Parts: sequence; C-alpha cells; structure tokens
Amino acid sequence: MNLILFGPPGAGKGTQADRLTSKRDWPKLSTGDMLRAAVAAGTEIGRKAKDIMDRGELVSDEIVVGIIADRIEQPDCRNGFILDGFPRNAAQAEALDAMLAEKGLDLDGAIEIRVVDSKLIDRINQRISESAEVRADDNADTLEKRLKVYHKETAPLLPYYEAQGKLRHVDGMQNIDDVASQIENVLKGLSGEDT
Ligand code: AMP
Repeated sequence: MNLILFGPPGAGKGTQADRLTSKRDWPKLSTGDMLRAAVAAGTEIGRKAKDIMDRGELVSDEIVVGIIADRIEQPDCRNGFILDGFPRNAAQAEALDAMLAEKGLDLDGAIEIRVVDSKLIDRINQRISESAEVRADDNADTLEKRLKVYHKETAPLLPYYEAQGKLRHVDGMQNIDDVASQIENVLKGLSGEDT
C-alpha cells in the first residue's frame, strides 16, 4: 500500500510509520530522517538544509522532491511505502502526483494523526528529556515555527486528499498502542475498498 501520514510535528507520524514498517513490507520514507542523515554526513544537500531545518522552516521543494523521487525508485518500495513528512505543501503534493502517475502507481490513503497544539508542546518536551540525542529543531521556539508552517502550508492539503476520498483520521491524543490500532482499522477499511 502507498500511504501518506499527515500530522503536526510531534503527532507521532515517525513512531507510527516505524510500527507499520516493522509489520509490513512498506519502507518508511521520511524526508526529515533523510535530511538529518544528509546533515550528519555533511553532503551538499545537508549543508543547504541545516540552517533551514534548525529554524523550523521548509527546505526547498526541489531538494525534497528529488530525495523522494530517488527513494521511490528503490526496489524495496515496490510493495508500497509510507510517506512521513512529505508532501508538506501544494507544490510537493503536485510533484508526488506526477511521480506516482509516471510510475503507474496510485496513492491508497492519507491518514491524518490529529493532536491539538498544546499537547504537542508537552510531547516535544518529553522527547527532549528522554532522548540521548536531541534534535536541533526540538525546542519550544522552533516547534512554534514548525506548527505555524504545518497549519499554513501542510494542513491545507488535507481537503485535496479528502476530495479524492483518500483521507482518514485517527485520534493522536491516545497512547501509541491505541493510535496504532486505529491505524490498523483504517488500513483494514482501505484494503477492503480495494477488493
Ligand atoms: P520532520 O522530521 O518531518 O519534522 O522534519 C524536520 C525538518 O526537516 C522540517 O522542519 C523541515 O525543515 C525539513 N523537512 C522535512 N520534510 C520536509 C519537506 N517535505 N519539505 C520541506 N522541508 C522538510
């Protein structure tokens, strides 16, 4: 299945994508993880992206679309993939449509993990206190910026997927296991519609 996970920063997209990946043959395609790897490796993309990421702004569409286009080509994506953090704006959504169309692929569903903003601040603070390696963009100021960007650029994509009948919602305020089982139910529904 080809899926997109939507949700604001700290909603648990990465965690849920990891869960799905561990149970199925669908790799997680996280532009955030790939960009952080590029920053750590000191590649040209990493050098271009670092300051933008630290500020909580969006890296250029050209960079992230290129990253995803290369990644989708890999053989492990043949059975499906989970997009985590992409697309994040209208231009990226259009680029994704074009990429999928070119490969004769379709999107099976887009799942929005809903969490209210106040809860996200608590979660990021928890992530900072629990993690050995703190992300440079995990702090209150950057989170505020990332949330603004999410509401302004990314949330407006949801009606686009809704209009295609592909959007489903889960309540991301529940614990990780509960959210995971809500997602499993969504997948059952989506695969039922396929058959
Ligand atoms: P994430 O791990 O998904 O929260 O992404 C961390 C940061 O990477 C974001 O705040 C952006 O600076 C950058 N980033 C990740 N995905 C994208 C994307 N699809 N478009 C632009 N910037 C992105």
